[in-house]
Order: sequence, then structure tokens, then C-alpha cells
Amino acid sequence: VSICNTDIGSLPAPFPQLSSNILDLFLLTNKHAVITGGARGIGYVISEAYLQAGISKLAIIDYSNNEPAINRLREQFPKSSINYYDCDVRKAEQVKNVIETIHKEFETIDIFVANAGIAWTSGPLIDQDNDDEWHNVMNVDLNGVYYCAKNIGKIFRQQGKGSLIMTASMSAHIVNVPQLQAAYNVAKAGVLHLSKSLAIEWAAFARVNTVSPGYIATELSDFVPDDIKNSWYALTPKGRQGAPRELCGAYLYLASDAATFTTGSDIKVDGGYCSV
Ligand code: NAD
Repeated sequence: VSICNTDIGSLPAPFPQLSSNILDLFLLTNKHAVITGGARGIGYVISEAYLQAGISKLAIIDYSNNEPAINRLREQFPKSSINYYDCDVRKAEQVKNVIETIHKEFETIDIFVANAGIAWTSGPLIDQDNDDEWHNVMNVDLNGVYYCAKNIGKIFRQQGKGSLIMTASMSAHIVNVPQLQAAYNVAKAGVLHLSKSLAIEWAAFARVNTVSPGYIATELSDFVPDDIKNSWYALTPKGRQGAPRELCGAYLYLASDAATFTTGSDIKVDGGYCSV
């Protein structure tokens, strides 16, 4: 029987050997992870959470050269190896090379979090003639995720296993007001659909999921004036911004063996914003 190019006959036994202790399933001990955009914000906090869950090798990819942040992690988690790789996810060749290098050094990669992203800062599209910013947002937020997915997918296929997690956004589901950001919405909707497409293409050997954060307190939205931020909180049922740490449970679950049947899913962590 064949479905979506997957030979059902070659799939592994239907039920993996699961530990009897539910908490053990959430441990990342002996696993290796890669996180893009891990030098600050949400990516940094995911790095910290994975290290707390026992990850043995962590590769942080970023282009910001934020060594002090990486050194803080090294001091906090001396038992894990934490490598930093300078790479611009907009550059297909750089992404290919860095993922191949990490693969050689780590031998296996269990978890890949494609999280690096930027905001659209220009405002309403109709007032803009800013092709450069449109393409830049697409290049980081969508193409950068695609380059990562393509290269890690080859490794997951060879290994016969792997979990790819992409950071989408509430903007993948709705249109933010009053700060309009068409390019960002389009890029993040693309990420959501890329994830679902790959979940089906790669079902035999990998899991692919997204996390959709709502308004989270990071430097990404520093440019937004306070009155606009206040109107966001008013539109969020929880009435406030989220802290990056409040996203970690979702990223940990999707990375872990507690999620062996979870693929093609999106977890919204948005204080209820998309439910209104
Ligand atoms: P942030 O600006 O604090 O961190 C983003 C990180 O990505 C930085 O370390 C930056 O150097 C890195 N980065 C950006 N462009 C890169 C590139 N071309 N190559 C390599 N690294 C690059 O932002 P954040 O809030 O932590 O955002 C992380 C992800 O979460 C992004 O994909 C963002 O779109 C998404 N997100 C954020 C929010 C929010 O409210 N903060 C909401 C929804 C989704």
C-alpha cells in the first residue's frame, strides 16, 4: 500500500517502546539539538529549556555573534557541549555548510528548531514602495526556514528519525491590528503550510510541527510604540504579553518522545488571541 510516497509496509512497528514513566518521556538526555536564532529572545530560552531537560549536545546558529549569551549557557550547563555557529539563514550555501558541519561534529541530530526571524517594521503595505524589506522578511522568515528544512530533512531521512520544529506565529493564522505587517503574515502563513506539507512528505522518518507564539516580550517588537502594544494586550484575552519562558513547554513537548505521534500540528501559545 502506498500513500504520499510512503511505503506503509516499511514503516516501523506501530507502537514505539515508551517508557512507563510519563515524565521520562520529556527528558532530552542523550539527544542532540540545533536551534536557529538561539542567541537571544525565544531561541535563547528554548536553548536553556532543552539544556535543563538534559540535552547532551546543542548547536546554536545565529548571525549576531552574541558570545556573552552563549558563554552564560556554557557556565550554567557545563556537562553539555554547546557550540555556536555564525550563519545567516538567508544564505542557502551557508545554511547547507553549517548543517553539514554540525552533523559531522554531532554524528546525529535529533531535534532542529528553525526559529530565527525578523519583524516587518514598515507599516501598511499600501503606503510603502519597499520591495527590499518585503524580500528581506521573506528571505529570513520563510526562505531561511525552507533552507534549514531542506538540509535537515536529508539528515533525518538518513537517520530514519528526527523532529523539526518551526516557529510560526499567531500572524500565520490572523492579521495583526493595528500594527499592519502584510509581509510577516504571509511569510509565517507560509511556514505553517510548509510544516504541514513536510509532515506528510516525511511521515515515514520525521515529525514536523510548528509553535505559534502570540505577543511575546522580546527585542523583536522593541520598535513598536507603547500605545500599539497596549492595544495588543487589550485584544489578548489574557490581557498581557507572554514571557519567552511560557513557550518552552510547547517546544519541549514537540522535541521529546512524549510527542511520537504528533506531526503536522501547530501549538498556539498566544494568551487566547487567535480564539477571539
Ligand atoms: P529576537 O529578535 O529576540 O531573536 C531573533 C534571533 O534570530 C536573534 O538572535 C537574531 O540575531 C536571529 N536572526 C535574525 N535573523 C537572522 C538571520 N538572517 N540569520 C541568523 N539568525 C538570525 O526575536 P524573537 O521574538 O525571539 O523571535 C524568534 C522567533 O519567534 C521569530 O521567528 C519570530 O518571528 C517569532 N515570533 C516572535 C513573536 C514575538 O512577539 N516576539 C511572536 C510570534 C512569533
